[in-house]
Amino acid sequence: MFDGQTTKGWHTYLKDTVGSKWQVKDGAIVFDPSQPQSGGGDIVTNEVYENYELGLEWKISKGGNSGIIFDIQEDPKFTATYLTGPEMQVLDNDGHPDGKIHKHRAGDLYDLIPCSKETVKPVGEWNEVEIVSKNGSLKLYLNGTNVVSTTLWDDNWKKLVAGSKFKQWPGFGTFKSGKIDLQEKFGLTYLFIAHDLSVVEHISTRVAVMYLGRVVEQASVDQIFHDPKHPYTRALLRSIPRMRSRSRERLTPIAGAVPHPYDRPSGCPFHPRCPEFMPGRCDKEEPALRPVGDKHAVSCFLYP
Ligand code: SF4
Repeated sequence: MFDGQTTKGWHTYLKDTVGSKWQVKDGAIVFDPSQPQSGGGDIVTNEVYENYELGLEWKISKGGNSGIIFDIQEDPKFTATYLTGPEMQVLDNDGHPDGKIHKHRAGDLYDLIPCSKETVKPVGEWNEVEIVSKNGSLKLYLNGTNVVSTTLWDDNWKKLVAGSKFKQWPGFGTFKSGKIDLQEKFGLTYLFIAHDLSVVEHISTRVAVMYLGRVVEQASVDQIFHDPKHPYTRALLRSIPRMRSRSRERLTPIAGAVPHPYDRPSGCPFHPRCPEFMPGRCDKEEPALRPVGDKHAVSCFLYP
């Protein structure tokens, strides 16, 4: 699969050659972000594999994010490799925001099954990986420890996929053979603006909640959805339907209406609608956006 000297046997997904960002240095395939953007993209094997034991080693730079994706189908109707293949996560857990997200840490079967044990080594050290896929049984090993075991394609697998972000892609995780992929480490940030919180939850890494044109809370997607601080964020989350809501459960709308932007309330702009309004303070001063924890900031007087 890799001869230690060239990228023979590999090509950029949906292309014929390997992009210039992928190079061989000191006996390893290296992703070099300093090369022109046109030389990027995931690289995949030329061959298709079924029932295999894949062994490799990886190391990552500070803040890095990548993955080993397998059983992918190279077909123009699938515009990206992750639309068909499951991924073993490659990550700097301490330096990348995904390190704080359950099932997105190094060694996890991405968004499906977390590692049973943390065996990843620090940034800059080599990690040994083994991916063993045989007759519908999948085992992932990280540094000699079996960290994930599951069955593939059965009801248990379908349930796992249905509870993940992959449920929206019908081809995902359904193929019994496919190519192996090394994922490009993206040096790219998307700013995604939406009113649909369920889409935000699935697409974003960090979230800024805005009210009347100001950011009132900023945090990781996990903190926003599991530990919201600002009364507006909490009210927003109470007002949307959730998968695990009880049948016929009523949603709680946010009281009042959004003021006209030319007639902004004095003090905290949310105070006329806030269930935790403190008279004499919230209507007199405007709170600044202040840190309340690790990479979590809120503008509200409830948090000094
Ligand atoms: S500052 Fe006061 S009014 Fe504004 S969100 Fe916080 S508690 Fe509510």
